[in-house]
Amino acid sequence: MIVRRLVVGPFEENSYVVGDEATKEGALIDPGGEVDELLAIAEQEGLRIGKILITHAHIDHVTGAAEARRKTKAATHLHPADRDMLASVPGQAAMFGLPAVEVPEIDVWVEEGQIVTVGGLAFRVLFVPGHAPGHVVYAEKQRAFVGDTIFAGSIGRTDFPGCSFDQLVSGIRGKIFRLGDAVLLHPGHGPDTTVSRERKSNPFVGEDA
Ligand SMILES: [Zn+2]
Ligand SMILES: [Zn+2]
Repeated sequence: MIVRRLVVGPFEENSYVVGDEATKEGALIDPGGEVDELLAIAEQEGLRIGKILITHAHIDHVTGAAEARRKTKAATHLHPADRDMLASVPGQAAMFGLPAVEVPEIDVWVEEGQIVTVGGLAFRVLFVPGHAPGHVVYAEKQRAFVGDTIFAGSIGRTDFPGCSFDQLVSGIRGKIFRLGDAVLLHPGHGPDTTVSRERKSNPFVGEDA
């Protein structure tokens, strides 16, 4: 599986270009900006971008989604519980003093357990709300794109309206940790980590928390 990361925007959000080495079908995960650079990475890898997978509709994860959809004709994917969050993106921009952001159309509303294929890759959708009402994780065999649920040594903020610390913690323990210790986690901010490392030592959801 091809996985390339680009850190974008004022929130240093991790956008990912992923793809199937065999079929050369690809997807963008959380295109938070610098769309031309993301598409240049896809081109370097010889990937055709057919899908845009969005973990949740906070502004830093969707800033480039409308532009990427227009330039690639790729189908955007989001959970319906983040529909209102998506509609509030212009307000989020104003709140942070950022330039206006175009709200992307959503082509596919995903749900828990759904399989999203990208060539021969099969991403399973895990519904893990708490940081955002409609937050999902896209899990593919030994990797999971976890957005802002869990980070290396931390977890997503739950101090915004519509957040729930308890919901987030139970989703991380009940779904992400159950993917297995060897699974590599690609978060929405900061470096990669593993289930094993976070299960043992994460100060919020680890064994000693
Ligand atoms: Zn977020
Ligand atoms: Zn974020």
